Amino acid sequence: MAMRRVRRRAPAATVTHSIRHGDETISFQLVRSDRRTLGFTVHRDGSVVVRAPRRAGEADVLRSVAGRADWIVRKQREFAASAARTPPLRYEEGETHLYLGRSYRLAVERGDVETVRLAGDALRVTVRSDAPAGHVKDLLDAWYVRRARRHLPARLDVCWATLPADGHHRPTLRLKHMRTRWGSMSPRGYMSLRLDLIRAPDECIDYVILHELCHLVHPNHRREFWTLVERLVPDWKRRKRLLESLLS
Ligand SMILES: [Zn+2]
Repeated sequence: MAMRRVRRRAPAATVTHSIRHGDETISFQLVRSDRRTLGFTVHRDGSVVVRAPRRAGEADVLRSVAGRADWIVRKQREFAASAARTPPLRYEEGETHLYLGRSYRLAVERGDVETVRLAGDALRVTVRSDAPAGHVKDLLDAWYVRRARRHLPARLDVCWATLPADGHHRPTLRLKHMRTRWGSMSPRGYMSLRLDLIRAPDECIDYVILHELCHLVHPNHRREFWTLVERLVPDWKRRKRLLESLLS
């Protein structure tokens, strides 16, 4: 009689490492999990994550990171430069705010009824005269969230229609404040999207959604995954660069 063995996935194990690269020290999180290849990610805050198979030898991993060091440092510099180009928003009159890829000039008015509305090329926020500091930001943040809750599900509908059916289930959408990524897809079929995407044009929103939809077919970033992305979004690299230049 055969015994059925239940294999459980062990949780990913994370440790911090660093290597020297010229004058620089590259620190990275090494995450070991059930995967077959190495994966490198540089986040917008400059942090580096290296994903490796559980059994990969440490020396091999460090050698591979050294081999990618130029690329890692270049990415970190690009992100640092783009952060320097886009100073933090102050929510003051005349400042430029993005909505669906278009620039709007912030106009702050005093009034009894608090509203946010688009008028021509202006984003008009009405606040009460006794409103505390930071209230313009609160009103605007809430407005962006409301717009995102309406618009991003509609883009998912559009993108979903272009995916080859193949018996996949339409994912459940979750909108979140995320700092380091635009979206993700869970194995259980939950697609998370960063609320900030509402500031980007539809072509960038669609790229992120289609990227995540392709993960329904191919969970990893192997060659077949990118082949599918290329087929659905032939100019995805341009859209990704545009997104990264608009939002940081
Ligand atoms: Zn992906």
